[in-house]
Amino acid sequence: MSSKELVASSNNGEIKTLLDFINRLGNASRGISREIDHKLSKIKSLTDSGMHNIDEYKPLFNGVTSALTREHSRLEKELAHSHLLASQASHSLLEYDQLARADKDQLRELMQRVDAPLYSYSELLPIMVEVIQLYRDELTLSFSKESHTSQICSVTKLNALQAELSNLLATVDFQGHASNALTALRQRMMGQLDAEQLMGCCVESLQLIIRGINEERQSAQQFLLSLSDALDSVGKALTRTIESHEEHAGERCELTNKLRQQVTTLSAAVQQSTDLQALKQQVHQHIVGISETLASKLEIEANEHQRLRSQLLSMQSRLEDVESEAQMYKRKLSEQKFKSLQDSLTRLPNRAAFEERLQLEYQRWQSYAAPLSIAIADIDTFKVINDTYGHIAGDKTLQVIANMLKKSLRETDFVCRYGGEEFVIIFPQTTTEVALELLEKARQRVKSIPFKFKNKSISITISAGVSSFAANDSPTRVFERADRALYQAKDSGRDRVCQY
Ligand code: GH3
Ligand code: MG
Ligand code: MG
Repeated sequence: MSSKELVASSNNGEIKTLLDFINRLGNASRGISREIDHKLSKIKSLTDSGMHNIDEYKPLFNGVTSALTREHSRLEKELAHSHLLASQASHSLLEYDQLARADKDQLRELMQRVDAPLYSYSELLPIMVEVIQLYRDELTLSFSKESHTSQICSVTKLNALQAELSNLLATVDFQGHASNALTALRQRMMGQLDAEQLMGCCVESLQLIIRGINEERQSAQQFLLSLSDALDSVGKALTRTIESHEEHAGERCELTNKLRQQVTTLSAAVQQSTDLQALKQQVHQHIVGISETLASKLEIEANEHQRLRSQLLSMQSRLEDVESEAQMYKRKLSEQKFKSLQDSLTRLPNRAAFEERLQLEYQRWQSYAAPLSIAIADIDTFKVINDTYGHIAGDKTLQVIANMLKKSLRETDFVCRYGGEEFVIIFPQTTTEVALELLEKARQRVKSIPFKFKNKSISITISAGVSSFAANDSPTRVFERADRALYQAKDSGRDRVCQY
């Protein structure tokens, strides 16, 4: 292979590695940000269409790098906001005189962690913000010095707070020992708690969430940063390559001209020469000159090839690092998805969260015998919405209805997306009659949402069935009765609530 071919082939190798890198990067980072996904797939489609000029990739690369940078700053902003809230919450709590000494110590420790700089890519941040807001607004208010000195603490208010915090915690889950601690905390919160104990639970949940987020940041953020680093180093390697190509192109050109000239002079000398001895001498001199020029040209090219090769190798090893990190990260993500208790579309607790909560409420019902009701709500003829206006409109509709259901019911009611277009609600300490009333109100509010698809205004309705726990009941039996009541509602014309 000539040295020219060597250079060309290492160039091809580099482009090949680069394309490979982009493909693998796309696989590794899919889902982190819509914008990054989009940009990478654009690079990929250009690649597929056969674009093989390094120069043309540069702006696309810069695009991905700046999308990554933007993603970082978005996260940082989100984080700064939660950070501020966490800080305010902790400070206002410290002013609460009745806080037990142990809680105060915990709180101080928590504040140190809150005040330390954090990064987080976590989806759990909004939940943390909610917990903190709940903690600050509700708890500090209801246990303010005035209400405490009068020693009157509304039991209903306390119960509502406890249920609200339980509902919130139902949507959070972590790996490892934070997960066990969280389960223990949820169990404890099912019992009757006084103000002091509830305060303790709040402090603990905040700590758990911050700890969980910290752990998540360590894996997710590191991964993002290393993706960014990898992109950066590949980008730099590219720039160096392009620059050195340009730099050496001049030298190579000069040498080529020199060679050409030497050959021309040689052939002129051969043609003009009449004396064999003189010709021999001239040819010899010229050949020495030509081989010297050729040698320096080869040397330049060999050096260039060597440099390209080492750049290529370093890019390759960077790629391998990113790949193994991506694999680790993906495994973590899939475990987390598996364990997740939140429905990603509606942000309501999911079916797994419901099962867990139902079990706990059932235990509670057995101990305290307060009324307990369950309802299943199902969107009417939802298939038609999907078929007529498309799946995306269907998804949006699901989100809006889920929000409205949650908004129409009380904080103490547990609303989850059971699956598809079905929602299940647990009404703790609630009779069938009250649950019926609440559901009726929710049904009307859903019906009055002004949906507009393709410029057509339509209203969407729901049907629901409700049933309550009676002596010797099991959760399965009550659920089945609620389901039967739902079918009754569907059979008798939809857009209504029935009981069984
Ligand atoms: P009914 O009044 O008897 O409940 O009629 P329906 O059309 O609502 O019931 P059916 O069970 O026949 O269809 C439910 C539809 O819900 C089918 C499916 O396309 C849609 N669906 C389920 N989950 C989702 C989702 O996550 N997104 C969207 N867009 N549609 C969903
Ligand atoms: Mg259904
Ligand atoms: Mg339906």
